[in-house]
Amino acid sequence: MGSGKVTTGSAPFDFQGKHVTVAGLGVSGIPAAKALHARGALVTVVNDGDDARSREQAAGLEALGITVRLGDGATLPEGTELIVTTPGWGPGKPLFRAAAEAGVPVWGDVELAWRLRGPDAAPWLAVTGTNGKTTTVRMLAAILEAAGLRTAAVGNIGVSLLDVVLGEETYDVLAVELSSYQLHWAPSLRAHSAAVLNLAPDHLDWHGSMEAYAADKGRIYEGNQVACVYNVADKATEDLVREADVEEGCRAIGFTLGTPGPSQLGVVDGILVDRAFVENRQKNAQELAEVSDVRPPAPHNIANALAAAALARAFGVPAQAVRDGLRSFRPDAHRIEHVADLDGVAYVDDSKATNTHAAQASLAAYESIVWIAGGLAKGATFDELVAASAKHLRAVVLIGADRALIREALARHAPEVPVVDLDRTDTGAMLQAVTEAKRLAVAGDTVLLAPACASMDMFTNYNQRGDAFATAVGELRA
Ligand code: ADP
Repeated sequence: MGSGKVTTGSAPFDFQGKHVTVAGLGVSGIPAAKALHARGALVTVVNDGDDARSREQAAGLEALGITVRLGDGATLPEGTELIVTTPGWGPGKPLFRAAAEAGVPVWGDVELAWRLRGPDAAPWLAVTGTNGKTTTVRMLAAILEAAGLRTAAVGNIGVSLLDVVLGEETYDVLAVELSSYQLHWAPSLRAHSAAVLNLAPDHLDWHGSMEAYAADKGRIYEGNQVACVYNVADKATEDLVREADVEEGCRAIGFTLGTPGPSQLGVVDGILVDRAFVENRQKNAQELAEVSDVRPPAPHNIANALAAAALARAFGVPAQAVRDGLRSFRPDAHRIEHVADLDGVAYVDDSKATNTHAAQASLAAYESIVWIAGGLAKGATFDELVAASAKHLRAVVLIGADRALIREALARHAPEVPVVDLDRTDTGAMLQAVTEAKRLAVAGDTVLLAPACASMDMFTNYNQRGDAFATAVGELRA
């Protein structure tokens, strides 16, 4: 490290004397600017904002000799040879249009990390999908750890790949969560193996269309060496495998909640089984774990466990480590988190169900539900979700700015289900919502917060929304 030359896995990229523009200050922009500067690049950071915080950050970079231009993230600095962007900046930004016209390449934080890996860097097992990424990556890391490998769950999960790649620690393999934004800006990334868990419309404003969104997700399979893991129940993921250009010998591996065929992982009589990474897969199957080893054992979460197992098995991990890893795995907060049982009713926080696809998976996991839903719809429609979930609904309590959209879908597809529409968006509304839900629930039911919407109309984020739910449940109990 420290020299201008770095190994890319293909050709070393020489940053020495190169004019590199970093688009956006902040969590990924600042470390990127510093890393590039340390390798001899002539770095200019451009940023839309010009507030007190940006000025403070700019001063820190300028002290190192990095140029910072605040209040103008749109104009391409003269002589730019490469742009390194914050993943959140969408492709429609004027800066990128100018770059395309000038033939200047654009890399995201993941591409930069990939290019800065050392020659003996750990291979990446990569995961993307509309929902389930964080859970799957954490399960995967738990399985790899159980196999005695040095590993970490990194990437979009909240651990910067650049920090990992440039850090002191050495790894045998990394469990990498990648968002569609990061994949969009990572043209040369080549994972050992990768999985696309599912594909449903999301972030379409950023990508421009469902086709563009799917194509960006599909980039994760490009150049895979051992396995492209897809969801048998979601044909779009299999189509992406078919379109990918992979290394010779790389296999397509499906996961299914049903009985697996050859080259698949699936479930037989409550057992997770592998018919992909076994001798004679036409005839044989290897038991990996029991469904009850997966927490929570909701169907979509068993699918996540199978995807994690497939990636781990592609890396050569023994069956026993899959079981041990899944047993040691603890789900993150606000993801189908069991909060309390009161009078025979379970209270479950799935505040992380911020889109309809996630909420549908969550609603499918319980028999009889009092559903707390609503928030910011982000352009979504609710007909499919409500029609598919109607049979599970005892009652519904609606909160948030766009609750009318859900109420109208309920009127169309589940007119017999009682609905309480809370006409308030203040944070205190959650206590009222939970109080109403308690009144509507009977023993054996589940009160489920799975809003199918973003939280920012009422809360700072989904964490705060889930905490408000748990606090409200606590108050009912008192
Ligand atoms: P991501 O990192 O993709 O946002 P998470 O693992 O944090 O995914 O899960 C987010 C939410 O998505 C969960 O709270 C749950 O409601 C839902 N979910 C998780 N896994 C799946 C899946 N395989 N299919 C559909 N929905 C899922």
